[in-house]
Amino acid sequence: MQKFFRELKTVILGPTRRQVIRRQQPKYIRTHYNEHRETARNIVIEKIEYWNKFYGFTFGRISIRAQRTRWGSCSSKSNLNFNYLIVFLPSDLQDYLIVHELCHLQEMNHGAQFWKLVEQTIPDYKNARQKLRAVRVSFQSKTTPVNNLT
Ligand SMILES: [Zn+2]
Repeated sequence: MQKFFRELKTVILGPTRRQVIRRQQPKYIRTHYNEHRETARNIVIEKIEYWNKFYGFTFGRISIRAQRTRWGSCSSKSNLNFNYLIVFLPSDLQDYLIVHELCHLQEMNHGAQFWKLVEQTIPDYKNARQKLRAVRVSFQSKTTPVNNLT
């Protein structure tokens, strides 16, 4: 019973400080992640292979994660991380996200050079960026981990 209230509280209020520190996630997120991560990995690998034919960058490991607020990231060791919720994005936003992180392999910041790289394959990147920003990663509700998806 106590566990039930603890989980309910997490759903309503979000993770407690302790949960964030311990990187422990509510069970429904874990379950949802387990259901979709393989599909996410397949999409990510396929699209990286496709877009990197153009760029030809070298990268390290590819990870699929259940991140709370980020769609993707690129580490200084050239490892690429993507949020498993990518499976719920429309294909054009998936492409933008992949290209965005790929380009960070060469340009770690969001300077003019970075956007020039992105623009080479996604000329309409400004529009995609805006659309992706509107799709917020949220785990506040059990049923809609991705909000504002149109
Ligand atoms: Zn970026």
